[in-house]
Amino acid sequence: MICQERVRLLYKYRDATTEYAGKVRDMTELAIRGQEAESNAKRALCRAAWDAAESSRLALARHEADHACDRATSSRSVEDVEDLGKL
Ligand SMILES: [Zn+2]
Repeated sequence: MICQERVRLLYKYRDATTEYAGKVRDMTELAIRGQEAESNAKRALCRAAWDAAESSRLALARHEADHACDRATSSRSVEDVEDLGKL
């Protein structure tokens, strides 16, 4: 049985990256159409969405590190452990 908090954090991470991808798609389409001002305005939203996605990733990694609920199926990468050290 999978940890329900881990499920919640996985969905949150997935949704945050979908949101980020959508913002990047909008920004690039505006730039390609030559709408530079609109594209630049969107770029700030891309950055904020990236921060939210990265926060979600770290929250998931932190939970898995604290709760060890991911141990049966996988191990964390060295990069995640290093990121956790910076918090
Ligand atoms: Zn857990």
